[in-house]
Amino acid sequence: MNEFLPRGWGVQGERGIAFVITGPSGAGKSSVIAALLRRDPKLAFSVSATTRPKRPDEVDGRDYYFVSEAAFDRLVAEGKLLEWTTYQGHRYGTPRSEVVDRLALGQDVVLNVEVRGALAILNAGLSHPVVLVFMVPPTRDELIRRIRARGTESPDILQARLAIANEEVKLIPAFHYLVVNDDLAAAVARVEAIVAAERARIVPWPT
Ligand code: 5GP
Repeated sequence: MNEFLPRGWGVQGERGIAFVITGPSGAGKSSVIAALLRRDPKLAFSVSATTRPKRPDEVDGRDYYFVSEAAFDRLVAEGKLLEWTTYQGHRYGTPRSEVVDRLALGQDVVLNVEVRGALAILNAGLSHPVVLVFMVPPTRDELIRRIRARGTESPDILQARLAIANEEVKLIPAFHYLVVNDDLAAAVARVEAIVAAERARIVPWPT
């Protein structure tokens, strides 16, 4: 702790902070987070559990814990998940240990979750600060282009994803920060500015 701080005060960066990155499919959350983790070794990624099949470029335990439906049921029944949801037919959940244990050690944790999961983390009663970042593409046209680029050929699926995105952006006012992802490096720099500002925030400190 800095010696100029009066007794009973600290800066938030001395404790663990949970940075929750959310936004519609196509916002580019995963790429921004990957760059962020490479640049800041003090950030730890919260690896979610999912029942979705592994993609070829993904690594079990790094990108997700890929689990069976039965194993996911057990995680839910045993209260091991901080929150969980069903998204496009598969279940995704945040293991309590990924977040709570690291925060307790004073590490900052980064989460990549969909919009309702982000709000669930805020309301999960963590005894550490939770910072909610909502990421969007610069325009609706660009959102459509990025969803198409993900191999969404069928107009029905495209329409369904756009409809979900339209519902999600209505929840933006519940978030703390909006980051426009027009360019990867610029978006990473914006999130880094948020991380730096939150670490420098002066807060009452239990003595
Ligand atoms: P994908 O299958 O493309 O990796 O992820 C689909 C969506 O699930 C993304 O919006 C991602 O942020 C979200 N997601 C990943 N892990 C979790 C989780 O643990 N909880 C919630 N609520 N959403 C998650």
